[in-house]
Amino acid sequence: MNAYYNRLVPVSRRELLASAAALKLRAEPARPLKIVVAGGHPGDPECGCAGTIACYTALGHSVTLLYLNRGEGFCGGAALSRCAAIRTAEAETACRILKARAAFAAQYDGRAVVDSPRYEDFARLLAAESPDVVFTQWPIDRHRDHRAVSMLTLDAWLSGGRGFALYYYEVAGDTMMFSPGDHVDISKVEALRRGACFAHRSQQPEKWYPKQVEITRFRGVESGLAQAEAFLRHPESRPGLLP
Ligand SMILES: [Zn+2]
Repeated sequence: MNAYYNRLVPVSRRELLASAAALKLRAEPARPLKIVVAGGHPGDPECGCAGTIACYTALGHSVTLLYLNRGEGFCGGAALSRCAAIRTAEAETACRILKARAAFAAQYDGRAVVDSPRYEDFARLLAAESPDVVFTQWPIDRHRDHRAVSMLTLDAWLSGGRGFALYYYEVAGDTMMFSPGDHVDISKVEALRRGACFAHRSQQPEKWYPKQVEITRFRGVESGLAQAEAFLRHPESRPGLLP
């Protein structure tokens, strides 16, 4: 029988405080974690993970949003020649709101290439971040660029000896057949999440953001929270610390 639940065992205030301190130590690592959230386009990491990113950075961890391209293929009504600059600026604004950093993998929006040189380039980019945890898009997805970033991340994880914890995330409208197992409470960071998503003004966030909120409300129902972002850990990955 567990003495903790036996009312006959007296527990002093000092013991209670010591248990609380031990629990806190277990919950918080000794050093800040390095997190990478990879996505096909500016806006994808924010759509799927902005709440979780805000929770990580509030705890003092370092987060990089690694975009496969700069969104060259679409920026509302503006000329295509201006899209990379417009969407890079939007991504940097979103990262400022989330206290994260933006990085770009130099591919072209809508024309993702997955071949040996790109596998190596992407693995080098990830290795340079020395991440403890990496989030990437789920590979069964309507968009080629999302599938590409998923493959590139998986390959970097395999070729790099599975050194970081690997999680998949979902985005409204594109992710298919996704059954997550880990939920993160994002109820308290809704304003930051919304701000980061609406920073992508050229992408009509008023259309897709409500759909993503439907997802996080549904994930909340699954986990007993008001709103949750949910992830699927690769079954061969060690568990990473989620906020
Ligand atoms: Zn996308």
